[in-house]
Amino acid sequence: MSNDYTQQKFKTAAFQLQQQALKHHDVKLNRGQAHELIASAVDDYNSMAALKSDGFSLDVDCPEQFSLEGAERRIGSRINSLRLDEKLPDSFSHNAAGLIRETLTPNCTECGCDLPTIPINQENDRQYQPQTWVCNDCKSNSNAYGRCFYCGDEYLYRVSDLNENGECPEHAGESEPVDEFEAEDHESWLEYQLNHEFDY
Ligand SMILES: [Zn+2]
Ligand SMILES: [Zn+2]
Repeated sequence: MSNDYTQQKFKTAAFQLQQQALKHHDVKLNRGQAHELIASAVDDYNSMAALKSDGFSLDVDCPEQFSLEGAERRIGSRINSLRLDEKLPDSFSHNAAGLIRETLTPNCTECGCDLPTIPINQENDRQYQPQTWVCNDCKSNSNAYGRCFYCGDEYLYRVSDLNENGECPEHAGESEPVDEFEAEDHESWLEYQLNHEFDY
């Protein structure tokens, strides 16, 4: 993804952080401070300058990059080193991590909006195709996405990547039922999936 895009997303995230700090804690973060928190959130860079000189940019095809695992802790320690810890409560790190995560996720592949999106799982052995990200509305209004019986609720797939038993390519064939109870269980799950809109 272009560097401009990354800069644009960072800018928006910085603005959101400033708003959050001001509105909820009456603290004026300057732009530099907000950017430092973002740098710590994305990959524990010591500073925005370090992040830039490393050539970091957001990549839609790399969903792991957007999960910002451990961001809350890293933001917390950056808040300390920026000596903002006296002004901002501990809860700020948690909220800031959520805010940054939501802001940085790629725009919705379907409608193009910049609301929070989730990645749709890719089939592993298919030819390369760009990662799809969908917003809540598109996700619940579309029957193009479905779940795998085995992967569980957190993972969405393109329906075209699921087989008739509702299995992802990795789990294909696993639901050969071992007994009639299991068969019934699976049957009713499939029925449920067909009859209910996904509601997140
Ligand atoms: Zn959308
Ligand atoms: Zn699966």
